[in-house]
Amino acid sequence: MAPAQNPISSQHVVVIGAGAAGLVAARELSREGHTVVVLEREKEVGGLWIYSPKAESDPLSLDPTRSIVHSSVYESLRTNLPRECMGFTDFPFVPRFDDESRDSRRYPSHMEVLAYLQDFAREFNLEEMVRFEIEVVRVEPVNGKWRVWSKTSGGVSHDEIFDAVVVCSGHYTEPNVAHIPGIKSWPGKQIHSHNYRVPGPFENEVVVVIGNFASGADISRDIAKVAKEVHIASRASEFDTYEKLPVPRNNLWIHSEIDTAYEDGSIVFKNGKVVYADSIVYCTGYKYRFTFLETNGYMNIDENRVEHLYKHGIQFVMFEIQSKWVAAVLSRRVTLPTEDKMMEDISAWYASLDAVGIPKRYTHKLGKIQSEYLNWVAEECGCPLVEHWRNQQIVRGYQRLVSHPETYRDEWDDNDLMEEAYEDFARKKLISFHPSHIL
Ligand code: FAD
Repeated sequence: MAPAQNPISSQHVVVIGAGAAGLVAARELSREGHTVVVLEREKEVGGLWIYSPKAESDPLSLDPTRSIVHSSVYESLRTNLPRECMGFTDFPFVPRFDDESRDSRRYPSHMEVLAYLQDFAREFNLEEMVRFEIEVVRVEPVNGKWRVWSKTSGGVSHDEIFDAVVVCSGHYTEPNVAHIPGIKSWPGKQIHSHNYRVPGPFENEVVVVIGNFASGADISRDIAKVAKEVHIASRASEFDTYEKLPVPRNNLWIHSEIDTAYEDGSIVFKNGKVVYADSIVYCTGYKYRFTFLETNGYMNIDENRVEHLYKHGIQFVMFEIQSKWVAAVLSRRVTLPTEDKMMEDISAWYASLDAVGIPKRYTHKLGKIQSEYLNWVAEECGCPLVEHWRNQQIVRGYQRLVSHPETYRDEWDDNDLMEEAYEDFARKKLISFHPSHIL
């Protein structure tokens, strides 16, 4: 779609959340000429990357009266993608050689990501737009605008009208707990990865970790440092899988899925193996949840599909390009298709997933078509396409994560892409050091 010829219009926009998505949305909206207010529940910017040693009172986060801890970050967490491809396009996430306290590794710790987001906020004066310690409790449409109800940490309520709302409240806070037959009578401890922080509580235990993607792969190895045995249950594995994995204490196994849990503490896997476990750690992902959002039934969440959401995002660059697009649509520099056409597009996407048997819960996981999608959004709003090296780093980074979960953060085979990235940064004058400093 070509950018529209309409006069540019400035809107009064509220952004909910000051994590990576909210920060870049605020920057793009204000660059486009909108007035922006960011409402943030916490005391600082950074969202998920603000580590808290505190976890929720209910380790499975099922109790609706629990007080919410936003972050799912555990103490040992390092990024699961190389830093070059994580950063925003004009503010690269590169090592800060001018500050010894910073982590210069290619896959740095969570503290470095938080420091990067704080640097980003400082560089673009984003904190000026943020009202901290304000929780949005309700958002509802009124006469073509939106009424936003919020409350301060001291409980004082407030409401305000905005032309548009950009929801950046994160989607890694509401655990999805996998159902295990027989679990109600199983006597052990259960915890979701959202509430996992350190391995200490699992010392000398036999632990079953469910899930083997980024968090499951990490947490199982973290716990194996202190536990007696760790057994991973992996849905992605063949039913007869039973394999010992190479970790220093020789105490980690991978199985297929769990079949049943029993009252005597045993857990039977689909491969027929039986383990008497002390704890289960669910690394089974999260649910989308926007408790504050009232859209009169227009937007529903069904099996983790956010229904009627036109054109889906999870990474910093995706947030950035989507934000540019949202800002351009709100200023009428870009026009959206008619509502009917957007609904047609959404239905066609759902049908394409159904046709190949992809469950609803994966509606917003773009996988292999991510770069195609990003380039489509970039073209819509007239911004540069995503760099070749970035797309390739994401694809190869995830491949390494799956194939070499023990080593992928310290050994890699894509120096060519790293070189391309740093040369690109240098050409665009985005870094103050010579690429040879890194390569
Ligand atoms: P968040 O960072 O969660 O920010 C949302 C903000 O909204 C928070 O500050 C919260 O306080 C605020 N908020 C929520 N509700 C309200 C409300 N009602 N009122 C006011 N404020 C509110 N991505 C990568 O690219 N690389 C990685 O290595 C990586 N590792 C990850 C590791 C883990 C364990 C997880 C869970 C995710 C990881 N991700 C990673 C993906 C991650 O989601 C993104 O990196 C990104 O940080 C998410 O940003 P966000 O702004 O969408 O959400």
